Parts: sequence; structure tokens; C-alpha cells
Amino acid sequence: MAPLALAPQETKLRIAVARGDGIGPEITDATLAVLDAAGVDLELDPVELGAAVYARGVSSGVERETLERIRTARALLKGPITTPSGGGVKSLNVTLRKSLSLFANVRPCLSYSPYVAGHPGLDVLVVRENEEDTYGGIEHRQTEQVTQCLKLITRPGSERLIRFAFGLARAYGRRRVTCMTKSNIMKITDGLFMDTFRQVAEEFPELASDHQIIDIGTARLATRPEDYDVVVLPNLYGDIVSDVTAELSGSVGLCGSANVGATCAMFEAIHGSAPDIAGQGIANPSGLLLAAVQMLVHLGLPQDAQRIHNAWLSTIEAGIHTADIKSETTRQRVGTQAFAAAVIARLGEEPRRLPCARYELGSALAELARDSTPAPPRPQVKELVGVDVFLDWSAGSPAELGDRLRRCGDATLPLEMITNRGVRVWPQGLPETFCTDHWRCRFRPEGGSASWADVLALLGRLSDAGFEVIKLENLYTFDGRPGFSLGQGQ
Ligand code: NAD
Repeated sequence: MAPLALAPQETKLRIAVARGDGIGPEITDATLAVLDAAGVDLELDPVELGAAVYARGVSSGVERETLERIRTARALLKGPITTPSGGGVKSLNVTLRKSLSLFANVRPCLSYSPYVAGHPGLDVLVVRENEEDTYGGIEHRQTEQVTQCLKLITRPGSERLIRFAFGLARAYGRRRVTCMTKSNIMKITDGLFMDTFRQVAEEFPELASDHQIIDIGTARLATRPEDYDVVVLPNLYGDIVSDVTAELSGSVGLCGSANVGATCAMFEAIHGSAPDIAGQGIANPSGLLLAAVQMLVHLGLPQDAQRIHNAWLSTIEAGIHTADIKSETTRQRVGTQAFAAAVIARLGEEPRRLPCARYELGSALAELARDSTPAPPRPQVKELVGVDVFLDWSAGSPAELGDRLRRCGDATLPLEMITNRGVRVWPQGLPETFCTDHWRCRFRPEGGSASWADVLALLGRLSDAGFEVIKLENLYTFDGRPGFSLGQGQ
């Protein structure tokens, strides 16, 4: 397999390298030492991301010029970044994934039993959606008592990710793709992801496919991972499930991940910056090293990837382990750099009992990402049929609110119901239901449509009556099907 073609002015493939925060510099140095000893011929372009950049007052954690260098490089190899808690700054990891459109996060997790104590049957490829869901970080405090986070699931975003996951399963000779969502509760958002999964599955008839509810699915995955092969999930569930599968393999320090888009790619360990062990020289560099292996495959250097991966497997098999690995086969407990030296000493060796790594696919990830383009939108009839008005109100009971709001409604937009935290409290609420200061008030003509002028007129009447409107959601139907949820108890 030939490496990616060089541009006329390029002499080597240029890789941006960010050493990261916490244990990042230690594991990056260890990883680069292995790449160097293996003779991997890349131009390494060091870039600064994370804590030092935040400290200069750059709230995104990345300078514009750095982003430009990353997007024009062939890949970014990235150490973990500490996300400062609290407001004022945004997660750099999320910013990179979203601004570079790295829509698919591929996290292979497998068992190295009996050399690492973990679940022996594990060989799972987690494919996590990387840009959507609650990770937009679109959050608001709307009232004294209530905060909200917007969960965005899109049809094109779900479709290309799911098509990518099926394509990956086909390319890697996998047999089954499992989707997990909470579509029984979030019928519109997770329901869209599940429906898209079922539609895309029809394009891959040779692959088995199933959908599971995320709670029982995760429980089963944790206890019977041998029943799973490729698992595709929305962003938040994928984040959690892939840490579960990483732990099942024996340590969160063992798994690398690829973040892939149609034009850019970023490779990193799945774990964080581990501030509790930073600077001690004991972190396991395997996650980042295996991410670098994925990067070499992506760059069209499968022979280098194979040589390093097999040296790493031989090291694990030889019982040379970092402190996080539990195993009865441990012969030597080593620190980060000594572990890298042990891998370097085994370059050219292959494991005797663990399956050998074999790479032939070259830049399959990038090609799959490019081939996963979603279908063009299908024209639909979209009709406004009402409005949900959210109020900040704490002046009485649901019945009193209902009485006052009914007078604000009219024939075009009569009051249909009021919910508090999603539960219907008017009409026919229960006295037991706990209510906050955040009310969703639905105005909708029975069976009819509404106009934007009707909505504006209603807002004027609510304002005249002294109500504080904090947000609006228009209620639409699409080809006659409601694009909004019912109230709990409706
Ligand atoms: P973490 O993954 O950093 O650590 C969790 C536990 O696993 C800790 O006990 C740690 O010591 C251990 N651990 C992690 N990596 C290890 C390794 N390579 N070797 C040995 N032990 C290891 O998770 P956290 O503590 O929740 O997060 C710390 C910081 O990292 C936070 O600021 C978080 O936002 C950030 N983070 C960054 C990324 C990323 O850059 N992609 C991912 C996750 C978390």
C-alpha cells in the first residue's frame, strides 16, 4: 500500500502533534520515541493546544493560526487536554471535532486476556457520533430554578455516521452492527437516529443489525461483550459506552481512537489528562501509541502500523506492564518511558499467542468518511399548527395559571395544556406533581393550522397580561406528522 500522495511542494507527510496536558507530554514523548525508532518517515509539526493557550485568555484553547496548521496537516496526533471546569471556556476537544467536521469517532476495544485481566470475549468497535447531541454545549439558565441543554440530532449527521459505521463493518469483515439509543423516551431525537439506522441497514443486507435501548444495551455489553461487534451510538452514549468497553479491555489507558471527517483526521487516546498521576512517569502510553497505529494506517503506512502494533502486543505478552494493568502474567512493572523502550526493543517481533495485527486497508477511514455522504433532503410539507410558550412564573398554582392563560388565548391559538418539567399539570393535573418556576404552555387550535401573525399576536397579549416569556418553540407537522412531543400524561 503506497502512502498518501505527496503534494508537489511536500517532501514528507506533515503531521501536527500536540503534546497535551497532564500526562499528555509523557505519553506523547513515549509514542514519538517508538515512531522514531521504527523509522516512520513523517514531518512532525509541534502545535500548542490546551492549558497554556487557555492561560493566555484564549477561551477556545486553540489559536486561529494553530487551527490553520492542523487543518492543512495530514493528521493531528493529540495528547489529552484538560478541560477547565466552569463557565468562560469551551472544551477544546469538542471544538476541534466540530470545527474540523470530524464526525466519526472510532474506538476499537479488545481483550488481551490472559496477559491483561479484562473480559476475555471483548472485540468491539465503538463508533461514536462526534459533533451533535448535547455536545453543542448550547445551554441556558432560563429561570431561577431551571437550566436546560439543547440536544440536537440531525438527519444528515446521523445518516453519514451510521453509513460510515456500516461501511467500516463491511471493510473490516465484521458481522453485526448494533445501534443503541433511548428512543422509547426521546422519540423525536433518538427516534430519528434509530429510524436512520434502520434505513441505512437496508443498504448492507449481508450485515446483521439490531437496535437496543441504551440502558439495557450497556448493561449487556458490560457483562456479555462477546455478543457485540460494531456498536454505533449518538455522541453522549458513545462517550460513556466506549469508556466502559475500554475498562473491560483491562484499563482505560489501553485504547486509542480515530476522529475522522471527509478531509481531516485526529488521533488520540480515549482517556483524559489524568491529573492524579501527571508528572510521575507511570502513565500507560498504550492508548496514544495505538491511536498512532491507527493514524499510520490512515496515512497509508500499514507496514509501519503493523510493525509497531505487533511489537506492542509482544511487549504486553512478555509481561512488561505499566501500573494500571492488572495481570497474573506481569513479569516487570515499568514506567512510561521504560514501556516505550520495551516496545522499541521488540520492533520486528510478532506476538506468539495474541492474534497478530495485520493491516492492509490503507486510508480506508478517510475514503469511508468521504463515501458516507447523506442523501439530499426529501421535500416535505411543513405546516405551523401551534406554539409552545415557555414562561418564568411563580405566582400561584397550575389552575390559576391555566385560568389566566386561557384568557390570553383566542380562537386561532387556544390554550391546550400546561406542563411543568414535561408533566401535564393543566388541565387535570395531580396535586402531587412538583412544580418549578418553568412552565411550557401549549397553544394549539384543534386539528387546524396557525400563522406566525397569530403567534405574534398571542405574544403581545401575554406581554400585556404581565407574563415573562423566556422561550418559544413553534409546533410543526411534516407531511402531516407531528414534529413535537406530547406532554407526559397527555
Ligand atoms: P481520565 O481519563 O483523565 O482519568 C480517569 C482515571 O483513569 C484516573 O484515575 C487516571 O489516573 C486513569 N488513567 C487515565 N489515563 C491513564 C493512563 N494512560 N495510564 C494510567 N492511568 C490512566 O479522566 P478524568 O479524570 O475524568 O479527566 C481528567 C481531564 O481530562 C479532564 O479535564 C477532562 O475534561 C479531560 N479529558 C480529556 C480528554 C481528551 O483530551 N480527549 C478525554 C477525556 C477527558
